[in-house]
Amino acid sequence: MKFRTRAIHIGNERDPSTGAVVPPIHVASTFVQPGAGEWGQFDYSRSGNPTRKNLEQTLASLEGGCGALAFSSGMAATHCVTMLLSSGDHILAGSDIYGGTYRLLHKIVDRAGIAVSLAPSTDLDRLEAAIRPETKLLWIESPGNPLMSITDIAACAELAHRHDLLLAVDSTFATPALTRPLELGADIVMHSATKYLGGHSDVLGGALVVADPGLYDRLYFVQNATGATLSPFDSFLVSRGLKTLELRVTEQSRTAARLADYLAGDSRVDRVLYPGLPDHPGHDVAVRQMGGVFGAMLSFEIRGDYDKTKRVVESTKLFQLAVSLGAVESLIEQPAAMSHASYDAADRAAHGIVDGLIRLSVGLEDFEDLRDDLRRALDA
Ligand SMILES: *Cc1c(COP(=O)(O)O)cnc(C)c1O
Repeated sequence: MKFRTRAIHIGNERDPSTGAVVPPIHVASTFVQPGAGEWGQFDYSRSGNPTRKNLEQTLASLEGGCGALAFSSGMAATHCVTMLLSSGDHILAGSDIYGGTYRLLHKIVDRAGIAVSLAPSTDLDRLEAAIRPETKLLWIESPGNPLMSITDIAACAELAHRHDLLLAVDSTFATPALTRPLELGADIVMHSATKYLGGHSDVLGGALVVADPGLYDRLYFVQNATGATLSPFDSFLVSRGLKTLELRVTEQSRTAARLADYLAGDSRVDRVLYPGLPDHPGHDVAVRQMGGVFGAMLSFEIRGDYDKTKRVVESTKLFQLAVSLGAVESLIEQPAAMSHASYDAADRAAHGIVDGLIRLSVGLEDFEDLRDDLRRALDA
């Protein structure tokens, strides 16, 4: 079955007892066992829940994995991966990563005696030079956040495995509709399901998907032991969102590409960061890795300081001033003040997250309405 068909049918089998075409939401926290010390398919909802299981089956199918785990947030999913490591190990992460991942690695994970450093994942030589004997995990994000850098996942997988590291990819921006990291050799795919997978700004969730059953078992053990699982109601919402994932992402990407063209032609805009533009440094890799559809996130830099930029992001009407992304409603934000405020100022400067940078999450609204909204905000 093709992607779109699997998104609708895998993990969504009709309910045999009623014939309902949508599986019921199983709210039970505990399940009757066949006997003392005997275990059925489910026993306790932290360890496994039918509604969560359905979602995990859909996700595993869409990413081409052997199994998936659904978490209460993207950060919980990321944290679970870091708990595979021990004191003395080192994590190497790309420098263009989600602000919350930066904070988790530098302010929580490092307390467990796990060292963390950043290197640009778009530059394989610098990335390789940053690998240490104690490095165990390479963490990358593509497209990166907020600069839309494109990392060559297949090349990173080759590098990681040559050095005996696990490669984990935060694929929140790309979604399995555009990029499937496991097929490119990655070991772990992570998603903030809060974004495109849910798609409607009404659920918080996260996911991990893997191709290797042994790795699945290790992650499952950590998830069950630490407990940040996704609730049945929220699992249902993400399952519902997945059915329209490909349609939404394709259409939102089309509008994003048109807005990128529009912004690139506006004299008040210094540069537009969108992997679909031929002058984007990651364009060629993106053509190969994203199948010619470049996602619905874009950033641009205006000719202006912190306050001017603040005025622009506060002036749009359809683009709502908010962090998060990936939903049907368009959002605008200033990374230096919002999504990436948890970076140290020096790291922000070193990685090019300047005050004049504006990030857009392009939703499902009409292109002309969104373009006029941006034009009016720049005029203001
Ligand atoms: C939002 C986000 C996260 C964190 O996910 P939560 O669901 O907010 O915990 C991680 N990575 C990326 C790229 C994100 O956009």
